[in-house]
Amino acid sequence: MKYPSLLISSFSLLLALSASNLHAEEHEQHGAHEHGVATLAVAVGTEGVEITLESPAANIVGFEHVPTSDADKETLDDAVKKLEAGDELFTLNPEAECQLQDTEVLSALLGDEVSAEHEHQQEAEAAHNDMDIAWSYACAKPTELKEVAVKLFAAFPNGFQHIKAEWVTEKGASAMELTQDTTLTLTQ
Ligand SMILES: [Zn+2]
Repeated sequence: MKYPSLLISSFSLLLALSASNLHAEEHEQHGAHEHGVATLAVAVGTEGVEITLESPAANIVGFEHVPTSDADKETLDDAVKKLEAGDELFTLNPEAECQLQDTEVLSALLGDEVSAEHEHQQEAEAAHNDMDIAWSYACAKPTELKEVAVKLFAAFPNGFQHIKAEWVTEKGASAMELTQDTTLTLTQ
């Protein structure tokens, strides 16, 4: 997994937390992901905030195979555009003066569409596939970031049923289970 420019001290802590959570889940579910469920992580650092989402592709695109039909390709394309419009998915309180700098979307659905490698494509078609998204914000006053409104349920009404949200700031870390759009209140 590759993360863009905003490398921040608290983020490595978050990665460690995420890694241990993932490990536990893999044991519980024997490696399978659960449709409707996703993990959202918010990491506030000294220069900005990084929001990451790990989700089965089904929650976002409605399918998990590598698209071959024009209709499926268009659906995937629309989903990526929706993800890249981060301001429609999250609202950060304006006092922090954050600007979305970059959105990275990683998925076998996209990789195979680009490389079009036949054998690999067949494997990906048979598998369950995730989408991992990272939104990087630069903030003029990151310590003023107190609230992150999550609007993923409204944006993908047929996708998400349950989002595990966790966040880390210089002052602490916490987590919350979301079943509808909610504003996360950060400890700063
Ligand atoms: Zn799946």
